[in-house]
Amino acid sequence: MRKINKIIVHCSATREGHDVDAKTIREWHLRRGWKDIGYHYIVRLDGTIEPGRMINISGAHTKGYNSESIGICYIGGVEAEKVNNKWVAKDTRTQAQKDSLLILIKLLKLMYKDATIHGHREFANKACPSFDASEEYKNLKLKNNDGIYNNKLACIINCLYGIFKSYNKPNSN
Ligand SMILES: [Zn+2]
Repeated sequence: MRKINKIIVHCSATREGHDVDAKTIREWHLRRGWKDIGYHYIVRLDGTIEPGRMINISGAHTKGYNSESIGICYIGGVEAEKVNNKWVAKDTRTQAQKDSLLILIKLLKLMYKDATIHGHREFANKACPSFDASEEYKNLKLKNNDGIYNNKLACIINCLYGIFKSYNKPNSN
């Protein structure tokens, strides 16, 4: 497995309310000449999490940091209409997207405990992901009872993580 020390959040820079699937983003990225979709996960407007590139393979999403990070992209990030003839960055996340991002990031933090969470804009002169990801996710509590991510879910994720770990060590019991 490659060493992962960062989870980097992106937006697709598409209009508010306009849903795009991972298949379409893969097509955009292949057209750029990339070998696959650049992100590891896509979070759709309804909160559906779609797989992108395999997690054990470096993505193509944050120049200079791809080999050590996981890239998550939520769909949206731009105002529905141009403002003064310009596309303007906006945190367009639906509640379902916020919920799914939180669960996904918490799960990834269980798998990669030392990983820190960032927005793309910390590494590039861009607005992406149109909100302050490191601030929003700085106090992630993995096992508290904060609504969607309750103790039962922590228990299930720990269980799945145990299975995941045992798959990586086929010769140990
Ligand atoms: Zn980005």
